[in-house]
Amino acid sequence: MTPDRFARQRVLPELGEEGQRRLGEGTALVAGCGALGTHGAELLLRAGLARLVLVDRDLVEETNLHRVALFTPGDLGRPKALAAADALRRIAPAAEVVPHVAHLGPELAEELVRGVDVVLDGLDNLETRYVLNDVCVKEGVPWVYTAVLGTSGMTMPILPGRGPCLRCLFPDPPPPGAIPTCAEAGILGPVPAALAALAAASAIAILAGSPDLVPGRLLHLDLWRGRAEATDVLRAPGCPACGERRFDFLAPAPSAAALCGDAVQVLPRTRGALDLAALGRRLAPLGTVRLRSGVLVAELEGVELTVFPDGRALVKGVSSPDQAQALYDRYVAR
Ligand SMILES: [Zn+2]
Repeated sequence: MTPDRFARQRVLPELGEEGQRRLGEGTALVAGCGALGTHGAELLLRAGLARLVLVDRDLVEETNLHRVALFTPGDLGRPKALAAADALRRIAPAAEVVPHVAHLGPELAEELVRGVDVVLDGLDNLETRYVLNDVCVKEGVPWVYTAVLGTSGMTMPILPGRGPCLRCLFPDPPPPGAIPTCAEAGILGPVPAALAALAAASAIAILAGSPDLVPGRLLHLDLWRGRAEATDVLRAPGCPACGERRFDFLAPAPSAAALCGDAVQVLPRTRGALDLAALGRRLAPLGTVRLRSGVLVAELEGVELTVFPDGRALVKGVSSPDQAQALYDRYVAR
């Protein structure tokens, strides 16, 4: 350890020598390398974390640059996990940084979560958050839930066995298309930076074994209007995940599969009718949208997305099922 790098943290009574020592032995997983993930990863590594595992399936895009940490215009088109890892190694050469360019499905999530002390949520979709919650509750690994949209966001530390989990707070994900995505609703740059800082503080408290952390304290922040609210979420007695230990989101995922020709079919994980007219109105500003014969056809980012009322979609013009799944998650499944 560099002698003086962590001096200002060691003098904090909340951390001290012991807390800093634990941080220096800790491993964290940052799930998603967008704005939340890059800010959170940088804060954890600067705090003295020993090992950081990163996972993200996307490439750095121009539209990310207003809100992320770590990336520069020279990173455009590179896998986010690799670009983030390069920048993080320059910041903390003594730490081990392990990037994965992959979709965080149930199988990979179980593999990655098993080896870490805490998980930071930097995800851009709800489906994967429920997968992550199931895995963390199952394995007893703490994670910090964080979500941002528009000018506000919320975060809550989840300590399995000691407090509520994501499904105690929101028992089920909303139906596909019910919540707008960042692409539709927009996102104020400082919002993920602020929420990632709160989440990183929770993760540092978890890694240091601090007794001060309150499991299940949900902080909600609106940066534009200067509003902050804290709510103590209780464990739900009938929670399927942390109560009944039924891990619905770890079932083999009905997800993206290549069909004949150049189409990929993506199936929704949650059953329920989709309001195609509402989805069409949300997508209209982003591309060309037609509703015909009860099916919505949208042309976005050079691909054609055909969405059926049951939430199923056919994606044409993509190079892989993973890319189709990413587009589906971005525009339909949030
Ligand atoms: Zn629960």
